[in-house]
Amino acid sequence: QPALSIRDLRKTYDNGVEALKGVSLDVSPGDFYALLGPNGAGKSTLIGVTSSLVNKTSGEVRIFGVDITARRDEAMRLIGLVPQEINFNMFEKPFDICVNYAGFYGVPREQARARAEQVLKDAQLWDKADKMSRTLSGGMKRRLMIARAMMTQPRLLILDEPTAGVDIEIRRGMWKTLKEINAAGTTIILTTHYLEEAESLCRNLAIIDKGRIVEQGPMKALLAKL
Ligand code: ADP
Ligand code: ADP
Repeated sequence: QPALSIRDLRKTYDNGVEALKGVSLDVSPGDFYALLGPNGAGKSTLIGVTSSLVNKTSGEVRIFGVDITARRDEAMRLIGLVPQEINFNMFEKPFDICVNYAGFYGVPREQARARAEQVLKDAQLWDKADKMSRTLSGGMKRRLMIARAMMTQPRLLILDEPTAGVDIEIRRGMWKTLKEINAAGTTIILTTHYLEEAESLCRNLAIIDKGRIVEQGPMKALLAKL
C-alpha cells in the first residue's frame, strides 16, 4: 500500500487558474520523494490538497490507503507538515514549542516531553532547547520547524520548499536531519526547485510543470536522461 497515492487530481482555483490538470503519482512507504518544478508549476497546490489545506476540484488522494476526503481526520493524523514560512513563536523556547504542539494534537504531557527531547536531539538542537527561539540561527530555526512536525510521529512528512531562499550551509544541515528522519522509517515528500537538492536527498521524483507531471521515476534514471 503506497504512503501516498494520487489519482487524476485536478485543482482549478476560483479565479479560473488550473493549477493541477490531472496528476497521478504513488509514493512507496519509506521513500524519500521529490516534487521538482519551476515556480507556478503546482507544487504548493499539490501539497496543499494532500494536507487538506486546499480543496481539490476532482480526483483521489489516499495516505496509507486512507482517503483524505472520506476519512479526513484519520488521514491528517498520518502526516506531518512543514510549511514554507517559519511560524513558531520567537518568544518561546524550542522545548516548549515542541511540547505545546504535541499537546495541541492530544499527546499526553509526559510523553510529549520525552518526544521533545528525542526530536530536538535528532535535529541537533538539544543544547538550544531552553534558549529563546529568537536567538537561534536561521538554520536552527528551519530544523526546529522539522523537529516540531515530528512531534506527532507522522508516517509521512511533507515539506513545501523547506530550503527556499536559504544558503548552502543551512541547506546541508537540513538535509542531514531529513536523511536521518527518513533512515529511521518516516516517508518524506518534499517540493523543491533545486535539482541539486532532489539529487542529494531523493530516491524517486516527479517533475511537475504547468499542472502536469512531465517525468516520473527513480532519481538515477532521470539523471541519466538529462
Ligand atoms: P508552485 O508551488 O509550483 O510554485 P503553486 O501551486 O503555488 O505552484 O501555483 C500553481 C498555479 O496556481 C500558479 O499559477 C499560481 O499563481 C496559482 N495559484 C496558487 N494559489 C492560488 C490561489 N490561492 N488562488 C488562485 N491561484 C492560485
Ligand atoms: P509559492 O511560493 O508557494 O509558490 P506564492 O508565494 O506564489 O506561493 O503565493 C503565496 C500565497 O498566495 C499562497 O497561499 C498561494 O496559494 C497564494 N497565491 C499564489 N498565486 C496566487 C494567485 N494567482 N491568486 C491568488 N492567490 C495566489
